[in-house]
Amino acid sequence: MKFDTQLIHGGNSIDTTTGGVSMPIHMASTFRQTNIGEAKYEYSRSGNPTREAVENLIAELEQGTAGFAFASGSAAISTIFSMFSMGDHIVIGNDIYGGTYRLIDQVLKKQGLTFTLVDTRDLSAIQTAIQNNTVAIYLETPTNPLLRISDISAIADLATQNSLLSIVDNTFASPYVQKPIELGVDIVVHSASKYLGGHSDLIAGLVVTRGRELTNKIKFLQNAIGAILAPQESWLLQRGIKTLGLRMQRQQDNAAAIFAYLAKQNKVGKIFYPGDPQSTDYELAKEQMTGFGAMISFELKPGLNPEQFIKHLNFITLAESLGAIESLIEIPALMTHGSIPREIRLAHGIQDELIRLSVGAEDIEDLIADLDQSFMQLSFG
Ligand SMILES: *Cc1c(COP(=O)(O)O)cnc(C)c1O
Repeated sequence: MKFDTQLIHGGNSIDTTTGGVSMPIHMASTFRQTNIGEAKYEYSRSGNPTREAVENLIAELEQGTAGFAFASGSAAISTIFSMFSMGDHIVIGNDIYGGTYRLIDQVLKKQGLTFTLVDTRDLSAIQTAIQNNTVAIYLETPTNPLLRISDISAIADLATQNSLLSIVDNTFASPYVQKPIELGVDIVVHSASKYLGGHSDLIAGLVVTRGRELTNKIKFLQNAIGAILAPQESWLLQRGIKTLGLRMQRQQDNAAAIFAYLAKQNKVGKIFYPGDPQSTDYELAKEQMTGFGAMISFELKPGLNPEQFIKHLNFITLAESLGAIESLIEIPALMTHGSIPREIRLAHGIQDELIRLSVGAEDIEDLIADLDQSFMQLSFG
């Protein structure tokens, strides 16, 4: 089956008892056992048919052994890190989601895990960071908000050579664009609140494992920790995933057209977009992704105020989050990345004038018209 068909028919898409073409929402907390221990499901934290449907679907889409659904992306990431023990060291990408950084810095360090942050575009920096007690490499690609691309298969190889686990947060690409397990990675994690859910109406997380041993470890931890996705949300997530192909195709096309528009707009400075042929990441993006995604970040020219620009937009919506059919815009320095000290932010290349745009599925003429009328009202000084 091709990917677009898998989205719709993959996993458990039909209700086997009634033939319903939408998986029912099984609200039962417990299940009758015909004899002691004889039951397909026992208790909904350990396993629920609606959750299992979306878990099987994501495992197929990411080409992994098994999928696991969690109450949020953050719950999924926490559960993965619960595999590690006091004294373990993990090499982490230095351009990761703010909430993941907070988890590492304020929760996991206290539990005795240690971390080294590196620019994962630089393989020798990763190699140098590996210590005797290193157990894993964890990264995002494309990163947020600068959409930098790291070489997944080279990093997976490096991990294998050093007997480390490789873990990729695939939220910004989605499996429509990039499949890290096919490139050799051990674990993929998603905030399904973004592209997979796709409609800004759901908080969820997904993990996909490769191989039996890791699958058993994550299965154990999912049940032991219990941060599972509820049946209603599991259903809504599967509903959202069915249109991932349609949405991504349209949103990527829109993003490419907006990139072309921004590149000619004289009030725009640097643009960060993996599909920019002048970007140093372009060749790698073309090689490991099937498209360039639908996120674009750009700087206004010095002296132009990003808050003014956003205020004049008509329907492109000021909000955190990304990956939905609605176009969402934000200022990283003031919003998603506001908790990072300014010097550190600037050292990472996140300027105060940077704007992050999650391109939605609206009509491209309306999108460009909205941006254009706002640029028209924007003046220097
Ligand atoms: C949003 C996000 C998360 C956290 O997911 P939640 O569902 O909000 O808990 C993790 N990683 C990335 C890249 C994200 O964008």
